[in-house]
Amino acid sequence: MGFIPVNEPLLNGNEKKYLCECIDSGWISSEGPFVQKFEQKMSETVGRKYGIAVSNGTAALEVAVQALGIQKGDEVIMPAFTIISCAMAVTKLGAVPVLVDSDSATWNMKVEDIEARITDRTKAILIVHLYGLPVEVDKILELAKKYKLRIIEDAAEMHGQTYKGEPCGSFGDISTFSFYPNKHVTTGEGGMVVTDDEELAERCRSLRNLCFKRDIRYVHDEISDNYRFTNLQAAVGLAQLERLDEFVERKRLMGKYYTNELQGIDGLRLPVSKTDYAENIYWVYGLVLEPYVQADNRMIQKMLAEKGVGSRTFFWCMHEQPVYRNMGFFLNETYPNAELLARRGFYIPSGLALTKEQMDEVILQLKDVMIQVVM
Ligand SMILES: *Cc1c(COP(=O)(O)O)cnc(C)c1O
Repeated sequence: MGFIPVNEPLLNGNEKKYLCECIDSGWISSEGPFVQKFEQKMSETVGRKYGIAVSNGTAALEVAVQALGIQKGDEVIMPAFTIISCAMAVTKLGAVPVLVDSDSATWNMKVEDIEARITDRTKAILIVHLYGLPVEVDKILELAKKYKLRIIEDAAEMHGQTYKGEPCGSFGDISTFSFYPNKHVTTGEGGMVVTDDEELAERCRSLRNLCFKRDIRYVHDEISDNYRFTNLQAAVGLAQLERLDEFVERKRLMGKYYTNELQGIDGLRLPVSKTDYAENIYWVYGLVLEPYVQADNRMIQKMLAEKGVGSRTFFWCMHEQPVYRNMGFFLNETYPNAELLARRGFYIPSGLALTKEQMDEVILQLKDVMIQVVM
């Protein structure tokens, strides 16, 4: 068996057919008809009125945060343990990320720690659902109401997931998605902002496209970026979205299979399979090394690679990012649960194209690695 990559997407639906339609019709730019179709289908899927497709999930966050009017000096509460895109969307505007530690069971932001971080400069809370289980949204929505805060929901890892039966991507003022190849729906690179607010949607459309003036083209009142999304990407996305239910079911089956086979292995903490508000969709199959294991996640990654198995370490915490330390952010701040996840968390191959034979090989090799590091 060859090297097992950490992710391989499944592209055997209508992807090729729709791409050929793009080529045959000559529509390959952001002006092509698949873009609107994809925006419409995606926003409908998550129960939002408007969808604005952008070049990636990071761009979606930037557009969303900027559209809400977050500016210099404003504070935005977010998890310490997340991808840097979340913090970057805030610091690019001169605003300040305010961090919250992680819940060690779900790996999401500890909701009970949020209120203490609210100040009179707090403008928004950025909810980030991580690795397959949603954040406890209700409690955050209550806080937002009480303190009059805006809510941005980063649902990049949550295609097809629900919280108490409501789709992730439908909460708060504005939500964002990514379509990177390891997400449940991929377009190679891609992202989307979804919202129910017409004015916010209009603002996002403008921000995605250099803030062109409506009536006088090439005259600009504001600086923004070119975050446009192409017809080619949308063609792939539409084909992917047609299979969302099947993909989520497949991911859940894969997650259950791994959990069954890895249960009882000394030194490994497995992902929580469900909470009282959601069942895990295993964005990726993440694992955390118990404190007594004589290795960190980087070492496990290396050992697995030597055995032909791809893996990735978890995100690195925002307060430990050299770039933010150098900018004077988060000095002397510690978030113990988040730090532990960053050092001891990793994920194993879990892409949609993974076969049962490959999973069995991953399980075999991981067991072997764990015997070596638990003594
Ligand atoms: C993947 C991801 C992003 C960024 O998406 P890109 O398309 O890679 O820019 C943002 N937030 C979360 C939680 C993600 O997992």
